[in-house]
Amino acid sequence: MAQSTDLREALRVKPGTRVRLSALDPAATFGHDKAAAGPLIAKRLERLGSLQDRLRAEAKEAVLVVLQGIDAAGKDGTIQKVMEAFNPQGCTVSAFKVPTPEELSHDYLWRIHKRVPAKGEIGIFNRSHYEDVLVVRVHALVPRKVWSARYAQINAFEETLAASGTTIVKFFLSIDRDEQRKRFQARFDDPTKRWKFSARDLEERKRWDDYQAAFDDVLSKTSTSAAPWYVIPANRNWFRDLAVASILADTLAGLTPAYPAPPDLPADLVIE
Ligand code: ADP
Repeated sequence: MAQSTDLREALRVKPGTRVRLSALDPAATFGHDKAAAGPLIAKRLERLGSLQDRLRAEAKEAVLVVLQGIDAAGKDGTIQKVMEAFNPQGCTVSAFKVPTPEELSHDYLWRIHKRVPAKGEIGIFNRSHYEDVLVVRVHALVPRKVWSARYAQINAFEETLAASGTTIVKFFLSIDRDEQRKRFQARFDDPTKRWKFSARDLEERKRWDDYQAAFDDVLSKTSTSAAPWYVIPANRNWFRDLAVASILADTLAGLTPAYPAPPDLPADLVIE
């Protein structure tokens, strides 16, 4: 059975490779099965919690997690699951929606940069600066010349963050068109979920192919050693959770966060 380290290697987009989502299987499970995944996810989350505790205590590194995916790909569900692992003090979630007039009056990275995590923190982005080469491209909200220059700008921005002690992990949640149809229908049919659904979602669904092309370009042009993309087969929620929790835990472990000693006290202190 595949282990977590295999997933990290298998799902990472190697810098410089051309990604075609149509050639990847969003229902892949890499030999895992649902029954065994539950306890495995619980273990990964426990490990994540303990790593976050050290990261927070040490306060030397920041971790930025970027989540992208088409509507209903499972960004919210992933955040809910992974957040179970974390102490809310030390973790922030930022959702990037249609920019406000104030945000639009600045450069596109302005609102993003304000939300990047500080040292010791984990910051999760629900959508991100990548919208500025996704929805913005698909709807031609700016000229091609403007959005096409952004891949290099984004790589430079992320490299700057990385050079200042931010570890960046980017997850692209991949579902297929039929899975989106099923999820939309289920949302609409469930009175507790209908609020999540809008006519705009149906309009966007018509542009499925345009989005896939835009995703292919993002994944091909912006997976770098400083900020790699992982394409997560996300048709099955349990596999998505397992893959994200495993890759995150392995990434945090790679930082070897450690509890610091209080700088101003002797190691053999006995309190009277
Ligand atoms: P959710 O993320 O749950 O789908 P919304 O339904 O409010 O939340 O959708 C947010 C919308 O904001 C998405 O359609 C997304 O494409 C859009 N959006 C995010 N960033 C930008 C941006 N920079 N320019 C234009 N639209 C954006």
